[in-house]
Amino acid sequence: MTVTRFAPSPTGYMHIGNLRTALYSYLISKHDGGKFILRIEDTDRERLVEGATDVIKSTLAITGLKYDEGPDVGGEHGPYVQSERKEIYMEYAKKLVDLGYAYYCFCTKERLEALHEEDAVGGYDRHCRNLTKEEVEANLKAGLPFVIRQKMPLEGVTSYHDEVFGDISMNNEELQDQILMKADGYPTYNFCHVVDDYLMGVTHVVRGSEYLTSTPKYVLLYDAFGWERPTYVHLPLLMGKDAEGNISKLSKRHGAVSFQDLVADGYLPEAVLNYIALLGWCPKNSETEFFTLPELEAAFTIDGVSKSPSVFDFEKLLWFNGEYIHKMTDEDFSKAVEKFIKVEIPANINRQKMLSLLKTRISKLSEIDEKKDFFITLPEYEKELFLNKKNKIADFEIVKTVLGEAKEILEGVESFDNDTLFAALMPIAEKLAIKTGTLMWCVRIAVSGMSATPGGATEIMEVIGKDESLKRIDKALAKLA
Ligand code: GLU
Repeated sequence: MTVTRFAPSPTGYMHIGNLRTALYSYLISKHDGGKFILRIEDTDRERLVEGATDVIKSTLAITGLKYDEGPDVGGEHGPYVQSERKEIYMEYAKKLVDLGYAYYCFCTKERLEALHEEDAVGGYDRHCRNLTKEEVEANLKAGLPFVIRQKMPLEGVTSYHDEVFGDISMNNEELQDQILMKADGYPTYNFCHVVDDYLMGVTHVVRGSEYLTSTPKYVLLYDAFGWERPTYVHLPLLMGKDAEGNISKLSKRHGAVSFQDLVADGYLPEAVLNYIALLGWCPKNSETEFFTLPELEAAFTIDGVSKSPSVFDFEKLLWFNGEYIHKMTDEDFSKAVEKFIKVEIPANINRQKMLSLLKTRISKLSEIDEKKDFFITLPEYEKELFLNKKNKIADFEIVKTVLGEAKEILEGVESFDNDTLFAALMPIAEKLAIKTGTLMWCVRIAVSGMSATPGGATEIMEVIGKDESLKRIDKALAKLA
């Protein structure tokens, strides 16, 4: 069975790159009907951020990336929070010492700081690597603080295969004797994730490509324990483009890059998830770029993952999001957009109609607030706004005539719905021998105060109601007088 995991460190917000890792990891297991595990990697105690685990869990819940095992859902391999598994790591580290692939190191901070670059590979000169058993025992007995380090082979090459990046090799002399267990009794990421992946039965390790070059150290641990190596799937870098068009690793300077910020800015979780699925993966034989989560589960295969960096394109995401919004039911839209409407909607406004007009004109929910304003308050405008070449309106006389006629008719209309209003106004065009476009232009400017609006004249009047429509037409007539 395919078993994958998402193993975030609770160090802050949920970066889009992390969410993509979670998604791909989820999809790889679900495509095979396998299992997806959430594991919290909190052994770097200095980088912990309070509340970060909750953000991780709620992001997975909102996006529908349901885990089969993990904190609060439990499972046969728990606990799923690394700080609760401390004893396990110490036990395995000691096993590794016994097997001859790790050693105790008692070097003090002062000694390490005094080391020179030339005699210390990657910061350590392997001073304690060859302590005798007796020396180690005496030090332990004396209660000296210690770390446990991995004993790297000094020559040869370590290779492994990555499903996306191919064969990766590293000269062993470049590998430093990295710390597996720290002096505080906590393991390093370098060690505990290997132990956990093994104990939790993880078959596919899915993570960012920043781990490509450290993975030789991890496969050496598998080999030392005699464990079967997992399948590695490293994901391409996520890049961002700045205003000058320069491309660099996706970060805050490119815009909102946390899932929470995007949602707070009015992006829909489904749209974000769909968009990031395509950042590094390309569907085979598919006409469409639109996928629900179950569709992604069916379509996602590792051979569709690309190794070239992908660029996060905010414009494309915005377009995607717009498409998702336009396809929502009015009811869902109304619910989703609720918290983005910052003012009370006056009683004269037909809220439902207003929202359904706006739904097809916004690309993110937060745009609603600004876009709805003219319904509530008529914007200031100059009478010149009525002049329009396309509709052959070169002077104000025709505008005045049209609005005068419209006012008279509208006063007699009882039901202010779009169809009735349209039918009621149409005869004006015939009477004055003008095009419908010209007629509606005049009325629309009067009732909206804007040249471009969501919806036409009669739709806008349906939203704002009879009194307000007539008031706005009177205002226009006064302006023109
Ligand atoms: N805790 C690591 C991270 O958040 C996990 C890397 C991995 O998936 O192995 O980057």
